[in-house]
Amino acid sequence: MARYTGPVCRLCRREGVKLYLKGDKCFTEKCPMERRAYPPGQHGQGRRKLSEYGVQLREKQKARRTYGIMEGQFSRYFKKASAKKGVTGELLLQLLERRLDNVVYRMGFASSRAEARQLVRHNHFAVNGRRVNIPSYSVKPGDVVEVREVSRQKPRFKALLESPVRTVPAWLDVQRDQWRGSVVRMPTRDEIDTPVQEQLIIEYYSR
Ligand code: SF4
Repeated sequence: MARYTGPVCRLCRREGVKLYLKGDKCFTEKCPMERRAYPPGQHGQGRRKLSEYGVQLREKQKARRTYGIMEGQFSRYFKKASAKKGVTGELLLQLLERRLDNVVYRMGFASSRAEARQLVRHNHFAVNGRRVNIPSYSVKPGDVVEVREVSRQKPRFKALLESPVRTVPAWLDVQRDQWRGSVVRMPTRDEIDTPVQEQLIIEYYSR
């Protein structure tokens, strides 16, 4: 299960938008996008006009980096979405949103998707009462995701109860005091706030 381990703020600077990969730091003035909102590297401040392909590539990278997924897995998600009936772009985003690490993040049990991924890997979560430590596990409507009883006394989770409540999307229902949340239904496109134009991703893979 490979993952990107390099400097993540560079990824935001490369894409030119905040991808919120660092948890609380993203909301402070320490965020490098506040001071250096231009691409990293020696020529980062130079003017550069992107080709049509470049624009599509950047959009695909932005989505992939937001969800912390490697190239191969992202292209498998795309293939799966395009094989289904419906709007491919929306189906792709739904598949990404349904990942267990993303759901843990959206429910407010972690400050970033990277942290959520680590907490899932470290056996802190259960789905429908059964321990699941696979970050890419795909949840479905009706599933109940909870912090396992043995983990609730850990300082990380105790601190969580004292942190401000985050807005939870309407497709999820969270009972924070009971350490659990459920998947009410599939998310619709307007409930997914990821700043990507999925049409460009489709064009990228249709080349
Ligand atoms: Fe991106 Fe967060 Fe780093 Fe800012 S602090 S550049 S939003 S990862």
